[in-house]
Amino acid sequence: MIVESSHLPRVWAEIDLAAFERNVGKIKEAIPEGIHYISVVKADAYGHGVAYIVERLLQCGIDSFAVANAREGADVRYVAPQAEIYILGPSLPEEFGTIIAENLVPAISNADEADRFDALAADAGTQLSVNLKIDTGMGRMGVWHAEALPLALHIAAKKNLRFCGVFTHFSSADTSLEFTELQRLRFLSVINRFPEDLRRGLRIHADNSAGLDSMVRDGVFNAIRAGIIQYGLKPAAGTIFEKIAPDPVLSFHSRIGLIKMMPAGVPVSYNRTYTLNRETRIGIVTAGYGDGIPTAASNKAHFLVRGKRVPVLGRVTMDQTLVDLTDAPEVQVGDKVTIIGSDGDECVSIETFCEWGDCIPWEALVSITKRVLRIYRGQRN
Ligand SMILES: *Cc1c(COP(=O)(O)O)cnc(C)c1O
Repeated sequence: MIVESSHLPRVWAEIDLAAFERNVGKIKEAIPEGIHYISVVKADAYGHGVAYIVERLLQCGIDSFAVANAREGADVRYVAPQAEIYILGPSLPEEFGTIIAENLVPAISNADEADRFDALAADAGTQLSVNLKIDTGMGRMGVWHAEALPLALHIAAKKNLRFCGVFTHFSSADTSLEFTELQRLRFLSVINRFPEDLRRGLRIHADNSAGLDSMVRDGVFNAIRAGIIQYGLKPAAGTIFEKIAPDPVLSFHSRIGLIKMMPAGVPVSYNRTYTLNRETRIGIVTAGYGDGIPTAASNKAHFLVRGKRVPVLGRVTMDQTLVDLTDAPEVQVGDKVTIIGSDGDECVSIETFCEWGDCIPWEALVSITKRVLRIYRGQRN
């Protein structure tokens, strides 16, 4: 029997915008008084589709966004003409024009960048808002904290730049409280040396979704950059979000494309990493690493079909993945397969998927490729 589910694609992700909105509401409630919510929507809103996500955030009253680069900033600008849009990464010289045209806020790490932005803003007859990025121990972009004060004064002296914020990024917020404290202290020590009139009006932020209680204690912080928690990942203990339980937003699905019986003793898929130990009813799922199922999940992951867990057999391939349907004889060609998400009483969380796939949740979400159709649920009318 062929199942009548031909309205379903071969592989798709469902994005529950109502769940996303609930998460945003919970985050807003958990953020202390006086702390501004900057919504991180880089990498196509962590693979969720930036236009839909930003539109919903605007409806929730959020109007500050952070992206990785100018191109992503222009995509947000298209949907959010009035919003404040921060660029988190370093900007290439050829991106400076887009930054000025789209009124994005670049992150500056040295005097050379400040000079070039100032000159371009002067040419365009405009004032460009900029952020100063300080490296307090992440060891990536930003001015090294010991050299940050002179750069801050340099930026403040530029006529065509509006110095609007200063931020740093923690390398180990979820693993080392001690190192995070060191970074916070370095940052505070720079900020405390800013002249009072410079400090006033700046957005000052360090924390991401692992926003720590210490942020509140230290008093100078007035913004937080919330990324992955918005998309339903569980917050870590010891954070201001500890008590909230975000709802999953994304689920990942495919179909059973073919079913075949194979005898015991037969190796399956590339490099014969699994040999059937019994006569097996194999289901061929119409998705693979070309869609975002990591090859590390080969012989490890379970998918869900008709409310049952079915194990992946052999290597995940680009377009097809094998599952064992011997103990699920009711499964038919065309059935929906859940790779991340729930089916009946069973659930594969992103966290579990990442254990199998040997990756982190951020990586798993952005690895769901373009080939995977995004289907939106819970839209407002
Ligand atoms: C990605 C990113 C964030 C958001 O981090 P989450 O852990 O997803 O909340 C915040 N700040 C910077 C600089 C980032 O690159």
